[in-house]
Amino acid sequence: MSIPTPTNTTPTAATAATEAAKPSNFLRQIIQNDLDNGTYAQRRWAGSPGDAAHHAKGQPDPAKIRTRFPPEPNGYLHVGHAKSICINFGLARDYNGVCHLRFDDTNPEKEDVEYVNSIRDAIKWLGFDWNGSATAEPYQASDYFDFMYQAAEYLIGAGFAYVDEQTVEQMRVNRGDFGKPGVDSPFRSRTPAENLRIFREMRDGKHEDGSMVLRAKIDMASPNINMRDPAIYRIRRATHHNTGDTWCIYPMYTYAHPIEDALEQITHSLCTLEFEDQRPFYDWLLERLTEGGLLASPPPRQYEFSRLNLTYVITSKRKLAQLVYDHKVEGWDDPRMPTIVGLRRRGYTPAALQMFAERIGVTKSDSWIDYSTLEGCLREDLEAKAHRGFAVLNPVKLILTNWDDVMGAGHLEPCTQPALPHLPEGTEPPPPRHFTIGKEVWIEREDFEEVPPKGYKRLFPGNKVRLKGGYVIECTGCVKDIDGVITDVLATLVPDTKSGTPGSDLVKVKAAITWVGVANGVNAEVRMYDRLFLDAQPDAGGKDFIESLNPNSLKVVTAIVEPSLANALPDQKFQFERHGYFVADRVDHVTGSKPVFNLAVGLKDSWGK
Ligand code: ATP
Ligand code: MG
Repeated sequence: MSIPTPTNTTPTAATAATEAAKPSNFLRQIIQNDLDNGTYAQRRWAGSPGDAAHHAKGQPDPAKIRTRFPPEPNGYLHVGHAKSICINFGLARDYNGVCHLRFDDTNPEKEDVEYVNSIRDAIKWLGFDWNGSATAEPYQASDYFDFMYQAAEYLIGAGFAYVDEQTVEQMRVNRGDFGKPGVDSPFRSRTPAENLRIFREMRDGKHEDGSMVLRAKIDMASPNINMRDPAIYRIRRATHHNTGDTWCIYPMYTYAHPIEDALEQITHSLCTLEFEDQRPFYDWLLERLTEGGLLASPPPRQYEFSRLNLTYVITSKRKLAQLVYDHKVEGWDDPRMPTIVGLRRRGYTPAALQMFAERIGVTKSDSWIDYSTLEGCLREDLEAKAHRGFAVLNPVKLILTNWDDVMGAGHLEPCTQPALPHLPEGTEPPPPRHFTIGKEVWIEREDFEEVPPKGYKRLFPGNKVRLKGGYVIECTGCVKDIDGVITDVLATLVPDTKSGTPGSDLVKVKAAITWVGVANGVNAEVRMYDRLFLDAQPDAGGKDFIESLNPNSLKVVTAIVEPSLANALPDQKFQFERHGYFVADRVDHVTGSKPVFNLAVGLKDSWGK
């Protein structure tokens, strides 16, 4: 196996968002300290994960630090994982290190290639690669089962582990609680030879599932309950997707995880705060195995940061799966889902998610981040990138009654508008948008009032407005059907006021409205998404989050959009002027037939009067 070179900082979307000054945080300080003190300077790396002897044959590790992202492939990644990805891959990138992608598959579960692939895709899409290159294979924790077994035999031989045959209930009672020290198991004083014999019988399938476990022998009186002889191996007859039926005993997560980190020469093992109580065992185990010469020294260290809690959002794979399987949403990639595939389909960009991760920072205190912080990042990213377009979401027809006289019957006048209006000086603008104006145009129903409320500046009889990028028009009235519903708004064109022509601004107006010509407007399906939950903390305190589902989280409208939007490519983002940012759907959007756009995020400033 060749030796991976550290990820370099090629200018991907991932780096773009972080080029600005990066605020320090406690993790950066820890890493900087370790680099200054040369804590890991003597480490060697043999090009692949392995034990002490394996790495001793390697060269000095070219990666200054090694971090890892270790998902369990049991669901789709969500915005909380995005935070963890940005932290782990981002730190590796910034400190000339490497971040490993490791599938934490020590639970014998059915392989779900769907999840494995979606996790790889999500990380790549966010702009990162793993194990030192974009083409490397991710690591799999189940590849380390042999070593884990050897390490368990070592612990038994050294008097650090024993086979316990107490029932689950006896073990629970004898573990004690916060106020009460635990009680030694009657099996605790077995000799190493006896333990080794029975442990091998466990491995060889001589004992029933659940009849006994291997436990670390530490301290039943420890104030930290996790140190009261935690179970490290259990019997479980289950076929594993990677190792098949080779094993009928499987390591517990708390035992497996530190070993996985150490075999991979991880320097900084970053996890969320709920693992804080596990750290003493993490350190205890790696101390035993490094002093025994099984694992390279110095061992990795675990550091905890607070998990992301986002208002109106659920970040638990299990609960998100429930939404999918109960058909509360249309799938993992429903644009209302906080999954990475859902966010992507909603119009989120890697740069926006990177910016979000930077902005919320890394701390050790649990808090809730307001959803608007995430939306703000998307707006900020799209503002300079998303091409503009006119879309009329709730159309009513406007008839220019003097068009035939002034412009000629059937005449269509070409108009243009910039695709990106506020480019920084010296930037080459993209080609402008082209569309036409004729006798009939679509306008928003709310842009006409027969009797204007106070301060209303748009169309009402006698008032002039500009059709943005077109002409100034003067409203003359409207036509209604027998139910009193307005079918047409009537106006006259004010000649010589075409946008961009000399003297066009001599006629003053107080408002400009968006519009689409009837002759070249395109019907489009527009999906107006709102938050999925009405409750800001839908699952806090064990609440039933299904109860706070927002019944109006999706409204589908048929809109009329300008012709430039008819050829939008899936995933392409736009600003529909005055309405917000939209993305051409990646699943249902078909150019040629009716295009589909998803609302990504509204505009910050609501449309004026
Ligand atoms: P879930 O409860 O959604 O299944 P998990 O923590 O069990 O999440 P894993 O696949 O084990 O999911 O997580 C991989 C990594 O992502 C872990 O290091 C975990 O700490 C991190 N992670 C998961 N959820 C969040 C979150 N909300 N904020 C930050 N990091 C998270
Ligand atoms: Mg988990």
